[in-house]
Amino acid sequence: MTPATPEIIARNLARVHARMLAVANRAGRDPGAVRLLAVSKAQPVEALIAARAAGQNEFGENYVQEALAKRQSTQQLHGVIWHFTGTLQANKTRLVAENFDWVHTVDRRKIAQRLNDQRPTALPLLNVCIEVNLDGEASKSGIAPGQLAALAEYVSGLPRLKLRGLMALPAVAAGPAEQRRPFRELRQLLEALNQRGHALDTLSMGMSADFEAAIMEGATLLRLGTAIFGARAASRS
Ligand SMILES: *Cc1c(COP(=O)(O)O)cnc(C)c1O
Repeated sequence: MTPATPEIIARNLARVHARMLAVANRAGRDPGAVRLLAVSKAQPVEALIAARAAGQNEFGENYVQEALAKRQSTQQLHGVIWHFTGTLQANKTRLVAENFDWVHTVDRRKIAQRLNDQRPTALPLLNVCIEVNLDGEASKSGIAPGQLAALAEYVSGLPRLKLRGLMALPAVAAGPAEQRRPFRELRQLLEALNQRGHALDTLSMGMSADFEAAIMEGATLLRLGTAIFGARAASRS
């Protein structure tokens, strides 16, 4: 599989931004309130550099070692914001706490507490989203909606973390209406937390196949891989 050229990546980004703008307008939302996170996992570092050259500055990575190698070889790039979007095991929290600006996949106390304890004091607070498993799919990570309020309470009490919002990775749905249902549920969960006194501003939802539905339901941070970079290299074992 040939990686996308810088020209293709720039063109894809322009197309995605045009679609984001059109949908935000259709939804009556401020287009500036919807940010794009480029999920560069399993893409060569050249793809990330090409996207940065085309104006993209927020990147999501799922595998810690791969992300650190990319950080190492992109030190010359300024203003890059790194998001960890992968499943987080306890033995990887230190590297994540030391090297990322955001973590989207906090789903239990132990992980939150370790990230908090391991976040270097010289760095700003670590931005975190709690991942919610909306459909109770056993194969997926994320906390059950019924346990969300207690975890949100716990995370917001940790001094080195800043709880920003919620993230979900819903099952693939057929049409636009079906796609919107889980995104609406996530938004309602966020609104319920804010009614309890939280001040969360981030809904991390929407991927290449369903980001328009996510914008319609209030997404503030879209996580797109394929639509920007093309197909990924064969997934790792
Ligand atoms: C891979 C991945 C994405 C991007 O998926 P695409 O369908 O390629 O846009 C978004 N979020 C998470 C958590 C991912 O693992």
